[in-house]
Amino acid sequence: LSNDQLDRWDRDNFFHPSTHLAQHARGESPNRIVTGGSGVYIEDRDGNRLLDAFAGLYCVNVGYGRTEIADAIAEQARELAYYHAYVGHGTETAITLAKMILDRAPAHMSKVYFGLGGSDANETNIKLIWYYNNILRRPNKKKIISRWRGYHGSGLMTGSLTGLMSFHNKFDLPLSQVLHTEAPYYLRRPRQDMSEAEFVGHCVAELEALIAREGADTIAAFIGEPILGTGGIVPPPQGYWAAIQAVLEKHDILLVADEVVTGFGRLGSMFGSDHYGIKPDIITIAKGLTSAYAPLSGSIVSEKVWKVLEQGTDENGPIGHGWTYSAHPIGAAAGVANLNLIDKLGLVENAGKTGAHLNNAMTAALGEHANVGEVRGEGMLCAVEFVKDRETTTFFDASEKIGPQIAGELVKLGVIARAMPQGDILGFAPPLCLTEAEADIIVEKTVQAVEKVLG
Ligand code: PLP
Repeated sequence: LSNDQLDRWDRDNFFHPSTHLAQHARGESPNRIVTGGSGVYIEDRDGNRLLDAFAGLYCVNVGYGRTEIADAIAEQARELAYYHAYVGHGTETAITLAKMILDRAPAHMSKVYFGLGGSDANETNIKLIWYYNNILRRPNKKKIISRWRGYHGSGLMTGSLTGLMSFHNKFDLPLSQVLHTEAPYYLRRPRQDMSEAEFVGHCVAELEALIAREGADTIAAFIGEPILGTGGIVPPPQGYWAAIQAVLEKHDILLVADEVVTGFGRLGSMFGSDHYGIKPDIITIAKGLTSAYAPLSGSIVSEKVWKVLEQGTDENGPIGHGWTYSAHPIGAAAGVANLNLIDKLGLVENAGKTGAHLNNAMTAALGEHANVGEVRGEGMLCAVEFVKDRETTTFFDASEKIGPQIAGELVKLGVIARAMPQGDILGFAPPLCLTEAEADIIVEKTVQAVEKVLG
């Protein structure tokens, strides 16, 4: 197919996620057709070779072109492409992967339930939590608290949990069982003169007030990413998670750690929960589980939750929740090969070490720029937030599209970063195999792109 024909077929037949549909159909938005990838680089049909500093959608954690994973997928497809996991059926590959996940998860976690992507795993989590409270005979304890700027997916429930307005507007969301509370986003604290400790106190007070207003006996769970991802790549202030967990424990509210981005090494620890001392009741995993070589997600439940789920089925029979593709053998084969590769290449350690290099170099290069409010990150996550005035932390008007403009210039220089959806924030989440030399290229090109747009 010629490039022109592909372009026409794309616009005529295909509509894309998170895309301005009208502009794309009219040919006003870019149309990059990706053809290959190796290490941290992708290639497109126009012959460009781009350093993918966002690992797809922070998911290609081992990098592109890993033949070990491709071979494992092919072998599984030849041997047994599919069998379901209902009523106790399984495959050796999925059983092996479940064991490998639990071997890596925090010690109090007990079992894993497999899904396809992060959204459906979080849908599963909420159903399990409602089931749990029904078995415990507290049918009113059902509301779920998430944070503004949290990202938990695009389904009806998960889109509701997501605290970004574009996921609610015009979709009649959020659903009534969902409540939102303050994001732990120090740069956007309510008062400039608040210290970090005071801001943590403020987040806790907001949560306490919400619980008091709604009644603790109506609130089932709190869901949060260890570090806010799509909402802006924002590490929590010191002491945030310990303080939040104390409130949740006091009110018997379950904690879901959404580790779709942080699971399997991105922060330089196997899980974000390990990194920040979080003790979740459920952990959501997806992206890094297979490095996106095949779709697969999971809900890891703790022993405490598992005991109640078991009791529920003794009382009521089989649990009425299942996906055709739960524990799909091809996804599981990708998962086993991926986790082995992460171990073999020491990628968790590299995420910590090279991620620190990336964050330090980005801070050194842009931390004092007149239009940079903050360079922040953790492990192999980094963000630069642009402001109109750094003294007063005044933000640019969204209509100026500063973040997207800089991301656009950066692609022209050969590096893909992500203009995060809310605010002028340039996000970086490279594959965990990034080298220091590649990190330096990211920083150098970012500085050039910033100069082009902001001077
Ligand atoms: N949870 C988090 C923290 C995410 O970042 C994402 C996706 O970016 C999801 C859930 C949803 O995952 P998916 O897009 O695979 O449904």
